[in-house]
Amino acid sequence: MTSGKGRCLCGAVRITAQSVETRHHACHCRMCRRLVGGPYFAASARGVSFEGRENITVYQSSEWAERGFCKVCGSNLFYHLKEPDLYSIAVGIFNKPTQFVLSGEYFIDNKPDGYDFTGDHPRQTEAEIMAEFTSSD
Ligand SMILES: [Zn+2]
Ligand SMILES: [Zn+2]
Repeated sequence: MTSGKGRCLCGAVRITAQSVETRHHACHCRMCRRLVGGPYFAASARGVSFEGRENITVYQSSEWAERGFCKVCGSNLFYHLKEPDLYSIAVGIFNKPTQFVLSGEYFIDNKPDGYDFTGDHPRQTEAEIMAEFTSSD
């Protein structure tokens, strides 16, 4: 965990997170792929605050989550799970992206065949993620 500051490409939105997971995941799901044009690298964060919030457009991508982007430059900023209130921040917007380590891949069976990530980390299929998501704990 670390604290983190970042911003969108144009600077209209600035973000501060009191704590960010430096181990992050890549998501290959169809929604992320369409949203960011490739795999989505995101890190869970707490204590998230924004400057320039009026420049954020929030898109309701499902009943349980929304995604935010800068309405000026289009930078993808976050995935926000409504319940519990949890942000996954796009790793690339942080000022020090080199502190992050890829530690897991989601929806590996949705990944296009044209590329692979190296590293020995968990790679979960859609079925595995759905089973986890619907299990009662
Ligand atoms: Zn922007
Ligand atoms: Zn995804």
